[in-house]
Amino acid sequence: MVRVRTRREIELIAESAQIVADTLDMLSTKVTSGVSLLELDAQAEEFIRSRNARPAFKGYMGFPATLCISVDDEVVHGIPSNSKLSEGQIVGIDCGAEKNGYYGDSARTFAVGNISDNNRDLMLTTEKALALGIEQAKPGNHVSDIGHAIQSFVEPKGFSIVRELVGHGIGTQLHEDPQVPNYGVPGMGGELKEGMCLAIEPMINCGRKEVYTAEDGWTIKTKDGYNSAHFEHTIAIRENGAEILSRSQLNG
Ligand code: MG
Ligand code: MG
Repeated sequence: MVRVRTRREIELIAESAQIVADTLDMLSTKVTSGVSLLELDAQAEEFIRSRNARPAFKGYMGFPATLCISVDDEVVHGIPSNSKLSEGQIVGIDCGAEKNGYYGDSARTFAVGNISDNNRDLMLTTEKALALGIEQAKPGNHVSDIGHAIQSFVEPKGFSIVRELVGHGIGTQLHEDPQVPNYGVPGMGGELKEGMCLAIEPMINCGRKEVYTAEDGWTIKTKDGYNSAHFEHTIAIRENGAEILSRSQLNG
């Protein structure tokens, strides 16, 4: 069932989503060559708890950490380890927080130092695809209009869209109905209504779309070994369109 949230509930979702955005802002200056993934995870957990919230991923289905950190050919759901970042990598950081029973969920892909033009293009394309998807999240549109906008933008550039993982409703649970695929024909799926809250999250591959789950049982990787990028926002559908609840407070 797709929930329509009250104004007050959206305020609570927004509070959690802003904590996630602030966590990612905090991390953005720390994603540098030589930092270990576990250090980033520890800083994120401390930050979230300092805001009287709870890391939403920790313990979710048994996931062991605050952040999903996915480097280069890892698409999503990477488990932070003591491995260190190095120059030229791209690193997807996905974060969730729960406060007062309401959830926020957001992800960004960061560059570690100087990255290749191809990696830059992949990241910019994924971030722009998210923005185009969000534009379609308005009353009267349908769920698949979001994915259609993403697909129409991404595939002509020669990148591919992960099919196995999708966006989702969000609110009193981390993952709620509806599923929000990042591809599709327009006008399908449920009608979007004012008050719905969604996490929209394109996962875009440099090479082919196929992915697999690594031996740790969590990390999703590209089959062909080419890199992947991921951006995600928690949004609320308002009368006139989407409001991004996990917006960065940094300039640019
Ligand atoms: Mg997420
Ligand atoms: Mg999500």
